[in-house]
Amino acid sequence: MSTPLLISTWSFSLPIIEAEFPRLADTGNALDVVEACAISAESNESIDSVGYGGLPDRNGRCTFDAAVMKSPSESGAVCGIERHRHPVSVARLVMEQTEHSMLVGSLADDFADKQGITSENILAESAKAKWEAWKKTNMPPVPPPPLDIGTGELFGSHDTIGTIGIDAGGTMAGSCSTSGMAWKVPGRVGDSPIIGHGLYVDPQRGAATGTGHGELISGICGSFLIVELMGRGASPEDAIHDTLARLAQCWPLKKEHQVAFIATTPKGKYAAGALRPGFKSAVCDGSQQAILDPEIVLH
Ligand code: ASP
Repeated sequence: MSTPLLISTWSFSLPIIEAEFPRLADTGNALDVVEACAISAESNESIDSVGYGGLPDRNGRCTFDAAVMKSPSESGAVCGIERHRHPVSVARLVMEQTEHSMLVGSLADDFADKQGITSENILAESAKAKWEAWKKTNMPPVPPPPLDIGTGELFGSHDTIGTIGIDAGGTMAGSCSTSGMAWKVPGRVGDSPIIGHGLYVDPQRGAATGTGHGELISGICGSFLIVELMGRGASPEDAIHDTLARLAQCWPLKKEHQVAFIATTPKGKYAAGALRPGFKSAVCDGSQQAILDPEIVLH
């Protein structure tokens, strides 16, 4: 038996993981629970960078990306789907019903249709209105980094939900879901659905998930690197620190850049870190249900 743990990016995820934690701590399995957490965020129209309510690309077209992972041989992902509101569930079907690990675009939507998932409009009126307002103001396409003040409200729009769970049986699983960067170039895919970039889970070494500017995370295979460093003996805190430092060395950082990670060992020792202030994570581990400041803020 192990101590159950559910951790997630951003303070808006606390009520989500609080609702799902009892199931994880009881007989629930980690994969079901991390999928349910992503579904909950995807259903919440007020979260404007995950699922329904997510902001569209610069042409006003909305696309979703998501991944799930249990181990290096058990992962699934979808990129750029446009007709299904729960990309995390389509990603899980890719993992469980195919020999593959990623499907993209309209063919991923066709796959979801064949799996019996109802096709729906994914662009919420609220997101469309924000896009119309953005077009009028002629604001720069790359939004400023978000500021999480710890109340569930985010100022700015970069808020992928990445969740990692360890159930009472000691099984670890992760999910990651996003509508991607607001006002992105059509066709752009960030780190979130790419295994090793926005999410990585290895039962022998640990798990990590990221949020923020996907290009920066992808450039160093961020989540894989954190898990690899933990596998070589680093604490989650040191692994996140070294990964953020590597990222900062490799990229000419701009003021709008933000990246954050959460990570845990297989035994549930966890940490969070960010490039800049403004990130918070949420945790439920039996002893606490809380919004936490990151242990590491690099700059
Ligand atoms: N990481 C996501 C992406 O680059 C965005 C985010 O975290 O909001 O698509």
